[in-house]
Amino acid sequence: MPKSSLNKDEVKAMLLLVADRIIAAEPMLSEADRNLGDGDHGLGMERGMNAVKEKLAPGVESVEKAFSATGMAMMSSMGGASGAIFGTLWRNGGKALAGRESFDAQGLADLIKAGLEGVMARGGAKPGDKTMIDALHPAMLKAQEVAGQPLNEALTAVAAAAEAGREASKAMIATMGRAKTLGEQSIGHPDAGACSVVVIFDAMRDYVCA
Ligand code: ADP
Ligand code: MG
Repeated sequence: MPKSSLNKDEVKAMLLLVADRIIAAEPMLSEADRNLGDGDHGLGMERGMNAVKEKLAPGVESVEKAFSATGMAMMSSMGGASGAIFGTLWRNGGKALAGRESFDAQGLADLIKAGLEGVMARGGAKPGDKTMIDALHPAMLKAQEVAGQPLNEALTAVAAAAEAGREASKAMIATMGRAKTLGEQSIGHPDAGACSVVVIFDAMRDYVCA
């Protein structure tokens, strides 16, 4: 049954699906990072998601804590640029949901907005630099637009926006992170972190639409 909002235990189940999807996508994410970086993105994300599964296993206290614990687990287990970046996304995003009993499309919009702001403050990248922000920023804009819809419909639209962002990142020239040394040679490949953002929103969509 499609879900229009989630309770804290369903948020946990959704995040466990995100973890399994990222782990399954490790070869694709590693390949994407081999094209533009040092090839470790998939393994880093896999390590982070195994830590998330362990952390969430005993159960979650609240909607806020489900997301923020995910961020903390990634930050403390991953290292590299993406540990800080993806950890901040979930931790800051989760904090924006303090006191909420359920996770709905407005919560999704608030989560992505706060998460993106945290990532931009932490890493200094902006849209167009060919990073995960190029999938996350269009997802944030779409999430604000659909904040009044049922969560399943909102996530369908947000996942599509993230995918379009990842595709658009192919044409960009990297100006942040390891890929910036490639300059124009970075054209043609999608950013690895943007690929991870797509896997994340696809998994969230599939959980709420199933
Ligand atoms: P590392 O660059 O340390 O090897 P990863 O390979 O795990 O880390 O992650 C690389 C990804 O991190 C990039 O594809 C990009 O999406 C993201 N990234 C790197 N630097 C930044 C930044 N300053 N802001 C946002 N995302 C970034
Ligand atoms: Mg790397």
